[in-house]
Amino acid sequence: MGCSSAKQERQCTPLQTINRKVKLRWLGHSGFRIEVPDIQDASINRCIYIDPWLDNPFLPEDLKGKVPNDADLVLITHGHFDHSSSAPGIIKASSKKEAKIICNYELFQFYQKHHGVKEEQGAPMNKGGQLDFGYCRVQMVSADHSSTCLLRDQTMTQGGEPCGFVVSAGGANIYHAGDTNVFGNMAIIDKLYKPTHLLLPIGGSFTMGPREAAYAVSRFLPSATVTIPMHFGTFPLLKGTTEEFEAHLRKFQPEFKRKPIKVIAPQKLMLLDSVLP
Ligand SMILES: [Zn+2]
Repeated sequence: MGCSSAKQERQCTPLQTINRKVKLRWLGHSGFRIEVPDIQDASINRCIYIDPWLDNPFLPEDLKGKVPNDADLVLITHGHFDHSSSAPGIIKASSKKEAKIICNYELFQFYQKHHGVKEEQGAPMNKGGQLDFGYCRVQMVSADHSSTCLLRDQTMTQGGEPCGFVVSAGGANIYHAGDTNVFGNMAIIDKLYKPTHLLLPIGGSFTMGPREAAYAVSRFLPSATVTIPMHFGTFPLLKGTTEEFEAHLRKFQPEFKRKPIKVIAPQKLMLLDSVLP
């Protein structure tokens, strides 16, 4: 369960551990699925979805037209439809009794009021809060963005504050930044939660572009060894590319004396059995 003390940090080898235990799959856009063995019974796999959007054009072929029924947790960073709209369907379809949506309080109220999600199907929290499920620990962190929810009549309602998450499981601390601009307090996220893997938006227009994301990695997030860009290419406006991101990293890393970080294109994580290197 992560590296919570200096002694454990020395003993912890996140990349080897993650290779053995944690599977990460890209679901298109900002959606990811993390699979981790249960801490009591390793034959049971726990499934954590983050911002799954089942209507996105890059959803893996085998998931098209289906709603997954294996979710233990569905983490939602904010109310915008391309992050939040599939959560009610996934939680209702789950075969796991304790399955829960994790999001801010206001967004969970929206799910209850407008999508028939039951109170026991959620674990609302707020930034700075942490929930420990045994097989993983979920830390809610800040994001610099907006958050509104779409009503059935196409008007908008407030969706509370946007957030990011650090999911700690199997020795890895996976930071999903949600939709965000770069902000200086990413340094606090690095200091407190030591993210080993970064899932960062690079599309631009609505979030950081490649330059801002490369600055965030180089200046504020030195603990990570792997970064996976997301939220690009889905619509024409999301123009940022992995190549631009890498080019900016090559410029910023020496400036901030940061160790080079491995960039993995999310398309490489589309197969269910993909494990991080
Ligand atoms: Zn958004």
